[in-house]
Amino acid sequence: MIARGFRFKLEPLPEQEALFRQFAGVCRLVYNLGLEQKATWGRKHRLGYVAQAADLTRLRSEFEWVRAVYVSCQQQALRDLDRAFQNFFAGRASFPRPRKRGVDDSFRFPGREAAVKPMNAKWSAVRLPKIGWVKFRDTRPMRGVLKNVTVSNDALGWHIAFTCEIDHEATAPNPEAVGIDRGVATTLALSTGEMLTLPASLERIEAQKRQAQRVVARRKRGSNRRRRAQARVARLQARQARIRRDFHHRAALDIAKRFGVAVLEDLKTRGMTASAKGTVAEPGRNVRQKAGLNRVILNAGWHQFATILTYKVEERGGQVVSVPARFTSQTCAACGVVDARSRESQAVFTCISCGHSDHADTNAAINIKRRWNTPLLDVEGSHQRPVEASTGRDLTVSENPLPSGRGRC
Ligand SMILES: [Zn+2]
Repeated sequence: MIARGFRFKLEPLPEQEALFRQFAGVCRLVYNLGLEQKATWGRKHRLGYVAQAADLTRLRSEFEWVRAVYVSCQQQALRDLDRAFQNFFAGRASFPRPRKRGVDDSFRFPGREAAVKPMNAKWSAVRLPKIGWVKFRDTRPMRGVLKNVTVSNDALGWHIAFTCEIDHEATAPNPEAVGIDRGVATTLALSTGEMLTLPASLERIEAQKRQAQRVVARRKRGSNRRRRAQARVARLQARQARIRRDFHHRAALDIAKRFGVAVLEDLKTRGMTASAKGTVAEPGRNVRQKAGLNRVILNAGWHQFATILTYKVEERGGQVVSVPARFTSQTCAACGVVDARSRESQAVFTCISCGHSDHADTNAAINIKRRWNTPLLDVEGSHQRPVEASTGRDLTVSENPLPSGRGRC
């Protein structure tokens, strides 16, 4: 069984929206009270979910406004809290922080307490306990068993996320493999030669966002005009995130439908080799300004893409593997010779040894695909000190991994 999320835009009536705010507010309070209580009890006397749920019952009997909000949502908040602490104690996460108004406006129902019905081609409705039927914009079919339903608010309004559990499909996995490179000139390059590019609207919104951020800087702290300017920045940011997420979903689905094995470069090795000049996972510190907006935007979302791709491929019985990223951009996909000089420009690769020429990102994607199963093939046969020409980041290689005089060209 695997979990899948489906997220849609809600269209609540004004009175429903008022209830949403009330639910979110009280659940946040229950979460924060529970957090305080757990923090006081400390590591030695861990306070579990059951004990806190009993306290919740007392709280509800004392305060009408706590009672006014559906109990399951409050219990879900305590479960979230319990999980956050388990992750903390296991060393997987930092100490849980209080939820903030305007940032963590959300609440959740167990799936069995909600129901969904279609209204017409574009709209469906979800029934939420104590709230009633709420319309949402139905953009894709859901499947599986509904496990839980989360209502949340961001700068673009209220959304609903359904988490469903679905079975692995029992079809024979597709043996076809594909290599995927985070291109420099393009967003995603496949070893088949295809290019998948982020929508151009993203860069336009980025420009608007920077402009809006400058406006914020000019406004007086604490003023209403500054708050309004900040809200505009948040809206633009949320819109960017949505466009990127849509792109990731579409690209991942397309790949998962056609290939059983997707080969990606390993972020960790790349981050390691590039640590002195800022990592790919954390762009901004020393990564060149000129590296390109598209690239910066993509890097920020690469992890998201890898996650989405993984569940879409695994759901179909396939697998996603990662391989060391070293030298993939300067290795010839035709003859295997590694040479920084082959990287003619950001977009063009022309092998100085055999003359093979291709789009630089396609060439890298083919190398990535090939590295699956044959990890050392591509680093043989070069006398050059390798430099990642694509990003301007030096690869710091402690020991020379390139045995000389073994060119295979
Ligand atoms: Zn070559």
